[in-house]
Amino acid sequence: MQVEMDLNKNFRTRIAPSPTGEDIHIGNLYTALINWAFAKKNNGKFIIRIEDTDRERLVNGSEERILETIQNFGIIPDESPKIGGKYAPYRQSERIEIYKKYAEELIEKGHAYYCFCTKERIDEIRKEQVLKKEVSRYDKYCLININDFSKRIEKNEKYVIRLNVASGREIILNDVIRGEIKFQSDLLDDQILIKSDGYPTYHMAVVIDDHLMKISHVIRAEEWISSTPKHILIYEALGWELPIFAHGPILRNPDRSKLSKRKNPVWSSWYLDEGYLPEAVLNYLALMGWSHPEDKEIFSIDEYSNVFELKDIKPVGPIFDINKLKWMNSEYIRALSEDELKKKLIHYDKSLSTLLDDKNNLILLTLAKLRMRTLKDFKILISDPQEIYIYSEEEKKIIEILIDKIIAIKVWEKEKILDLLKKFSIEQNVSMKMMYLFLTGNSKGLPLPEMLEWRGKDITLSNLKKIII
Ligand code: GLU
Repeated sequence: MQVEMDLNKNFRTRIAPSPTGEDIHIGNLYTALINWAFAKKNNGKFIIRIEDTDRERLVNGSEERILETIQNFGIIPDESPKIGGKYAPYRQSERIEIYKKYAEELIEKGHAYYCFCTKERIDEIRKEQVLKKEVSRYDKYCLININDFSKRIEKNEKYVIRLNVASGREIILNDVIRGEIKFQSDLLDDQILIKSDGYPTYHMAVVIDDHLMKISHVIRAEEWISSTPKHILIYEALGWELPIFAHGPILRNPDRSKLSKRKNPVWSSWYLDEGYLPEAVLNYLALMGWSHPEDKEIFSIDEYSNVFELKDIKPVGPIFDINKLKWMNSEYIRALSEDELKKKLIHYDKSLSTLLDDKNNLILLTLAKLRMRTLKDFKILISDPQEIYIYSEEEKKIIEILIDKIIAIKVWEKEKILDLLKKFSIEQNVSMKMMYLFLTGNSKGLPLPEMLEWRGKDITLSNLKKIII
């Protein structure tokens, strides 16, 4: 079934990261990209809301890093905790009173209730249900038996507020990407809405905020599908219109397992630190579960947002292959002008500015551009001898002859150098690969004649002499 989109509505999308990890997960950056593109395509607004109500899992500095990384990738929100906006605050820990008010409204309407059960009792019920192979859910004891809840609250007894899930209901989720999905309310637990620390659970806060912030499309990863029927029940209980839901795929490792730290770096800033260009990473992410209508592989995110349709996303987990991303990154680097590359390199590594601001070294950019796959590669490509190689006596003799030949060369130019190297390689029966090692101390790097021309005759000779003493 196709989900109808109301084109008169103001399109508002959001991501709602929880600051419970080191940084934003690459899968969440993907979700951010599709939310951003979809809002942009429809002249809408893209919002970032921080969901920090799980106080136990909070990681220090995580929120700042998440917001900074999203910005470093160039995904700019219209509203966020930093920017503010009409529906501020955009940080859930600053909205506690709002959730409380709606929880009370739900209680008044009979859709929620106070629960004073201890953890021990809940564990007990669970154990029994597991033994009987029943669905694990709360047994509504407090809903049925407790009338004097105000007194107990006054006495400072600990409580939670639970959703009163009606039995025998069928809940239908119409998902833009996946079509219709049906759920049975009998399989749902009476979800906790407000925890004993007074903070709301994710389920409660997400519904209240998506509604109050006028989110028109909730676009998130498939791991949230099973939560959606609970959300639908809360919307219904409060008499609110549902947003349009779309659950995108979860990225997978090449062996199809869920993208995880062990097989692929998952923190988005890692890719920037390793010298991937944000535009290349976003381009690669855009291709996850989606293809360009003209089958293009390389395109900007602005182009992406122009042609992007939510319904075209395929629900099956796409493979996130870092080698493919590396290839794409090298294509992006190759397409840069020397000047653009220089700027990016200096932005990436400030220590390169002295080298690159010297006009004599600009040739390095031209040469390196063809061999770099990431910005990090640049330093490696131009570095001085790195590999430790023990030369045999026979090799040392050959190097001595090479030194004489180089001394004899009159014009130090790449063509002449190439001639010499070719002849020498045939005469002495030494492979070009070996010559590369003799002359650079590395097994790979920039094209050899050009590199030697740039280094100059004196340094080339002194490097060779170091080998034979
Ligand atoms: N706070 C949830 C997360 O960590 C948000 C899920 C949603 O988008 O509803 O991703």
